[in-house]
Amino acid sequence: MKITQVKTVVVNARMRNWVFVKVETDQDGLWGWGEASLEWKTRSVAGAVEDLAPMILGEDPARIEHLYQKMYRQSFFRPGVIGMSAISGIEQALWDILGKITGMPVYRLLGGAVRDRVRMYTHLGGGEMKAVYESQHSGDASAMVDLALEVTARGYTAVKVLLTPPTESLNGAALYRHAESRMEALRRALGADIDIMVDCHGRHFPANALEFCRVLAPYRPFFVEEPVPPENVDAMAEVKRSSPVPIATGERLVTRFEFRTLFEKQACHIIQPDLCHCGGLWEAKKIAAAAETYYVGVAPHNPLGPVANAAALHFALSTPNFLIQEDMLTDVPWRWDVVRHSLTSKDGYWLPSDVPGLGVEVDEDAARLHPFEQEVIQSLAARAADGAVLDW
Ligand SMILES: [Mg+2]
Repeated sequence: MKITQVKTVVVNARMRNWVFVKVETDQDGLWGWGEASLEWKTRSVAGAVEDLAPMILGEDPARIEHLYQKMYRQSFFRPGVIGMSAISGIEQALWDILGKITGMPVYRLLGGAVRDRVRMYTHLGGGEMKAVYESQHSGDASAMVDLALEVTARGYTAVKVLLTPPTESLNGAALYRHAESRMEALRRALGADIDIMVDCHGRHFPANALEFCRVLAPYRPFFVEEPVPPENVDAMAEVKRSSPVPIATGERLVTRFEFRTLFEKQACHIIQPDLCHCGGLWEAKKIAAAAETYYVGVAPHNPLGPVANAAALHFALSTPNFLIQEDMLTDVPWRWDVVRHSLTSKDGYWLPSDVPGLGVEVDEDAARLHPFEQEVIQSLAARAADGAVLDW
């Protein structure tokens, strides 16, 4: 069996373009799907898939590790997040093919189920829902609290929020008061037992980040995520060492080599690899295994499309130190119309399916109804009062 074509199908989903990757073979009707979506880098990722294709055309699609090695090591220049997203999408599609060949769901090929169901949470909005975004950043907290109640009424037992606007290198009392009032409103509305994750989008510098963790601690956040930007692991480790709450990070890191530094410096309690960026399912399993040796849990990042959901399910089912999975509920109402799938959920959990492969097929006709469009680049709004650029 040989790989005959590698192509992308791009679907505009308002805030993001989903980049689905299709790997075709010389066997009639046998192909695989993966996802390589990367915010505001759609054309680059689609181009990277095109650049990688000649390295694997004519090869046996079942030699997944071998093909990963070719794409990663024989690129000579190590792929960054754009190249690794492209590799991730291709790699997931290879697992889908292998599952279809063997008649097994991918989680069984990854070691088999270590749990019966997969706990999910949803992000209440980093920009997808204007009212919620504004509610998290200014004015009253009611839109954010209302959405949190709506989500938990559907059976979810955990939500994630942003509590501060983009911040400067040092911020005064107003920042903490702002964050605390929103956290207090959420905790009061949701009760003591719903887990509340607080995402910082890497907005703070260490002094603010640490004080922010202390201010939130009485409200028992499940974890505080990316309290400082991702480039400097020592800064993350400094915050983690003194933080009274668990620290999570890693959505912007790729490959086991970047995660290795986090572990060696003991810079977090929880890692958040994104299976569509870090190198794919097998690379994520290697990263998770390394995390296990440091007693670090895994809460994969995923605000992406429906193929990413399917890949995440198989990883979660087969990974012992998996903790909780991000699920996307707030992007476009036709989200599930562009795929045929076997995903089912109940009471805030995804359930396993025995459909061979990843259990998701892109409907290319339906996908064509939502062609590529330039997304609104939300991050451009992140400015200080004096106009200086800030992290979004
Ligand atoms: Mg995040």
